[in-house]
Amino acid sequence: MSMTFNSPISQYIIFVIISGVLSVLLAIYAYYNKTNFKGMKVFMWSTILSAVYSFAYAFELASESLREIRFWINIEYIGMPFIAPCCLLMVMHYVGLDKFITPKKTWGLFVIPAITLLMVITNDYHHWFYKALYLRPNTPTPMVDVVPGLWYYMHGSYSSGSLFASLFILARSWRKTKSIYRKQMITLAIGISLPVLGSLSYVLGLTPLGMDPVPILMCITSALYLASIFSTSLLTVAPIAREHIFESMRDGVLVLNLENQIMDFNGAATQIIPALTPLAIGQKLDDIWKRGAESGAFSFGVDPSVLHEQELKWIRGGETFYYRIRASNLLKPNGQLAGKTIVMIDVTEHTLLQNKLRHLAEIDGLTSIYNRTSFMEKSRHLLNAAHQTGQPISFILFDIDYFKQINDRYGHSVGDFALQHIVSICQQTLPKDALLGRYGGEEFAIGLPGATLAEAGQAAEQLRKEIAGNPMYSSAKAITITASFGVSQAKTADVPLEALLSEADIALYRSKHYGRNAVHLANAEQAHANEEK
Ligand code: GH3
Ligand code: MG
Ligand code: MG
Repeated sequence: MSMTFNSPISQYIIFVIISGVLSVLLAIYAYYNKTNFKGMKVFMWSTILSAVYSFAYAFELASESLREIRFWINIEYIGMPFIAPCCLLMVMHYVGLDKFITPKKTWGLFVIPAITLLMVITNDYHHWFYKALYLRPNTPTPMVDVVPGLWYYMHGSYSSGSLFASLFILARSWRKTKSIYRKQMITLAIGISLPVLGSLSYVLGLTPLGMDPVPILMCITSALYLASIFSTSLLTVAPIAREHIFESMRDGVLVLNLENQIMDFNGAATQIIPALTPLAIGQKLDDIWKRGAESGAFSFGVDPSVLHEQELKWIRGGETFYYRIRASNLLKPNGQLAGKTIVMIDVTEHTLLQNKLRHLAEIDGLTSIYNRTSFMEKSRHLLNAAHQTGQPISFILFDIDYFKQINDRYGHSVGDFALQHIVSICQQTLPKDALLGRYGGEEFAIGLPGATLAEAGQAAEQLRKEIAGNPMYSSAKAITITASFGVSQAKTADVPLEALLSEADIALYRSKHYGRNAVHLANAEQAHANEEK
């Protein structure tokens, strides 16, 4: 090789070799960090391929004959056509599009590059890649000029297409990317654009001596990546992995600063609160919250930034969701308060199941009123509350008269219907705060907070009249139903519920005894309503 080291070609070779060396360094770096981030493996491959390309190109430039040049071109194409699709894969990993990267698609990306390699190696037989390849006349060292064939353009379009797609993906996720990662994105974008611009100017004949500037630009790209790795940890991945986890979380997460301004949120949070658009960054959480509450999205207007843990009911698109909201302080490494994170956990399924179980445990299946157990429990609460406020409280027990006969005469299902009929009359007649429960088969209990014995007696009497006066209709037949009542009042503060109900039961028994369809008050000798019969 007859050239001096200050000739442009030898300086050029030096750049190409540096580019190759940088690529090797990047590949080594990537190899030792490849477990950090999925894209790192692709990055490693793209650097290995770049190194292959660069060194082969250096040898091409140093070649003495067309045969030698031709050989090194074949080696270059072992690397070069595969770089752009690798780059695309890496960017997809980087912006978190991993879910679109299936093994099948990955291999699919390399089909055209593989054909390119095949075309280059077998070019002598078909000339589809290079129509012609000849030594340029009058150059100090042998250099080739080529006449591109059909597949040459295919390869060029595919490579630049992949690189443009990478740039497009980076640009698209720009807005969604947190500012700390944007520097890395710019680095990647420049790293990708430089070779694209270089090959474009090469194709347009804008480069000095008609030399391919791509190796030099790749050299710059590699240097840029290396600098970036050591200054901002390009592709070190902890932040990317964190970002990824943050985005793929099922729970909504909001990050607030000390002024309660929204600093960050993940995809799940936008699903929960539609007002969380990118424009919401920097806005006060209260404003977003108020807007949601005014539009009826929340069942109550609590500001989650002041809560520690709370369950919220959310109405979205006609559906009801339940979220457990947990706020926790965000501390700087030095322990200083930096803001708050708010995690919103979807507990809809859990809450609905809980409600259903509670309903099953508390509510009588036939009449949809409280069963005996929950009536007792709620009555105890009422009794306690009455004792605390000094208000009176009374209880009514009633039992349907000759209910066996209804069953016997009309069948059990009509009997069931009769029970529902009675409950419906109770619900229409009794005051709103009355507690109604199914005490036994066809026996019902009522708690009347605030009612004295006399008032409860009147309520029972009204109910008795309503039941007796509203026959039930079954197959167009009117069936008159009556019931017998017993009423008691809590006279002392510490009277147990059982005692009260037992007093009412004794009074009820008296109603039965004196002919049924009657109301008797506990400890009252005189029948309250018998005479109206
Ligand atoms: P009395 O006036 O003395 O109360 O007469 P009665 O026939 O109502 O007597 P009793 O209270 O002893 O009978 C209750 C009957 O109610 C017995 C049972 O067959 C019937 N029963 C209990 N629960 C149900 C139910 O869920 N559905 C139906 N159809 N019948 C029930
Ligand atoms: Mg009965
Ligand atoms: Mg009974």
